[in-house]
Amino acid sequence: MGIKMNNAKKLRLFFRLSWETAPSYIILLIFQTVMSGGQVVMNVVLPKFLIDELTGNCEPRRLLMFGGMIVGSNLFFAWFGRFMKRHMDVQNPYVSQKMEQLLGEKIMSLPYIRLEDPYYLDLKERAAFAFTNQEAMLNMIMGLAELLQKGSTLIGLTIIMVTLSPVLVVILLLLVGIMLLLQKRLSVSFRKINELILPINRRYGYYVNQAFSNDMQKDIRLYSMADMLGERIEWYNRDMTKTFVRFHKQEGFYMGLYSAINDLQAAVSYGYVGLRVITDWFGKRSSLGSFTMYVNAAVQFSANITAFGQAVIRLGQLLGYLDPFMELMELPDEQEVQQGVEFHGPVESIVFENVDFTYPGSEKKVLKQVSFSVKKGEKISVVGLNGAGKTTLIKLLCRLYQPQSGRILVNGRDIMEYDYQSYMRQVAAVFQDYRLFAFSIEENISCLVEGQNSGTVEKLISQVGLSEKMKELPQGIHTLLGKEYDEKGTEMSGGQRQKVAIARALYKDASMIILDEPTSALDPLAEAEIYENFNELAGGKTAFYISHRMSSSVFCDKVLVIDAGQVADFAEHKELMKKEESLYRRLFEAQAQNYE
Ligand code: ADP
Repeated sequence: MGIKMNNAKKLRLFFRLSWETAPSYIILLIFQTVMSGGQVVMNVVLPKFLIDELTGNCEPRRLLMFGGMIVGSNLFFAWFGRFMKRHMDVQNPYVSQKMEQLLGEKIMSLPYIRLEDPYYLDLKERAAFAFTNQEAMLNMIMGLAELLQKGSTLIGLTIIMVTLSPVLVVILLLLVGIMLLLQKRLSVSFRKINELILPINRRYGYYVNQAFSNDMQKDIRLYSMADMLGERIEWYNRDMTKTFVRFHKQEGFYMGLYSAINDLQAAVSYGYVGLRVITDWFGKRSSLGSFTMYVNAAVQFSANITAFGQAVIRLGQLLGYLDPFMELMELPDEQEVQQGVEFHGPVESIVFENVDFTYPGSEKKVLKQVSFSVKKGEKISVVGLNGAGKTTLIKLLCRLYQPQSGRILVNGRDIMEYDYQSYMRQVAAVFQDYRLFAFSIEENISCLVEGQNSGTVEKLISQVGLSEKMKELPQGIHTLLGKEYDEKGTEMSGGQRQKVAIARALYKDASMIILDEPTSALDPLAEAEIYENFNELAGGKTAFYISHRMSSSVFCDKVLVIDAGQVADFAEHKELMKKEESLYRRLFEAQAQNYE
């Protein structure tokens, strides 16, 4: 389960990530905060000299110098502040987006199995939520800058105040300590509330997304699901409001106490400075300049303490928001999990050795003692009833999951021992729930930026039977898939999309190719065409086909029959047809009857 990081560790990670994305930005940020701290201190100290000069010697040259310094430094700070603001306004969204990019890269490189884990799904959602809804990263940068700025100003002011009364400073710092403790209490309860709210929020988000999603609108309308969805959304909304009310009550209490102490702090510092300065002044122990400086310092100290406290509170909250992001960024990548031997293809042999598999969070064994072996270039048809475990077997071969016991050997070595990327380069698969992107057709097939493909895209288009469709499109293979981002984009039928997906799998120069019900959306003619061509298209690649159309098995070298998670048979079509009572023969004949 989740690792709780302390705030210092989170800040370190934050700095490391910011440093990686934009080092010059961090330097400027620190420089800016120190400078603006300097401005406050200058404005407290410099007037003292000016006033002392005015009430003392009144020497014009020195008067001019102090006056000039005050005006000059303020002009400089004002200019510098604006210059920095402009710079930051440009940099802030950049750094923020860079962080979002890091998050995206992380999600794409995490072990696939995490997608089955509700804890991880929550985490991912929360991490993204912090960016999209709370602009947490941007606020965090601003908050840190403010904290540094107020902090450095306070140090300067404290030094001035110490010269007046060390005891006062100790009392004030004590009060500040209490304020910080209150803040900590508040952030703890905030975190607890956050933990309570997150699972509710995830479910709430799911229903809202369904209500918004284009994909769902057909089903929502056909089955009149609007009321049901609306009710769920309202239900979770009420749940969240209840939780928030609890938090705001606590917040009210702590913030009230905080304000009271803050006021006490102001009263103590004003009162003390006022009293001291007046008695000193009447006793002629202090100049008018010092009087002004201490009053100024007390006013600034008080204002800065409040701002500092608020910055700490805000930062605590933001760190809370960014918690999930930080935790996610710390998870090991797929590659790191399995640092292995480089896999130099091609695939020569595949051996399943007593493989058992149960999905995470489930009790049922989906694969039981699965053993078979396949040689280079063989075309294997995998058949069986729905839910028998065919797709699962393929997912294991693609290393999306790991068997609980038994091994899968490719070229004589457990696939888990291979370096992840090098293994993946040799595997191409079209799953039932394959996805295409709103990129051009060429990009969807080559998975490379437009224009970088090796020129085989066009050939594959004709081999999978998409040439006619391409002729309809003025921009040909450069046409964008879908109309969301380009009016000239094209919508394709299920069958055409499947052909694009098959072309993508073929384009990848992998020595093993897997098609999981690749032809379910194809019409019988297109299917026959794909099958007739496929052995030629797949060439020397080792291939697995999962198909409910038994006729496809006839083209294959061998048929792997899976029954309730076990290998029922593994032989040629002709052999299996000879077995009177075999599952394969029953399936084959049942389907053949439909065509008679
Ligand atoms: P087939 O491809 O033969 O139709 P699958 O391999 O998809 O069958 O599924 C085999 C069994 O595993 C089914 O009982 C299914 O309910 C279960 N199953 C599939 N995916 C998951 C999952 N992600 N989590 C838990 N159970 C799953």
